[in-house]
Amino acid sequence: MPVKRRAEIYVSRCTGCGRCVAACPKRLLTLEVAGYHKHALLTGWEKCDGCLACLPACPVRAIS
Ligand code: SF4
Ligand code: SF4
Repeated sequence: MPVKRRAEIYVSRCTGCGRCVAACPKRLLTLEVAGYHKHALLTGWEKCDGCLACLPACPVRAIS
């Protein structure tokens, strides 16, 4: 069975700029506030098809 690809956010590297949120065609990314830090969060990850549209949108390579 093929392994399903999906986006993964490296929270410690994420600056919370929101560019990936705007880039996801399925609107699966959102910004989460945790204390003083804001970071991207993949919601409904089972719907992520690994299209990789969010990947180049991130200026700090916080998505793999
Ligand atoms: S890989 Fe595609 S579907 Fe998944 S979060 Fe990124 S832009 Fe959205
Ligand atoms: S584009 Fe990168 S730095 Fe900006 S919110 Fe998304 S994961 Fe974080």
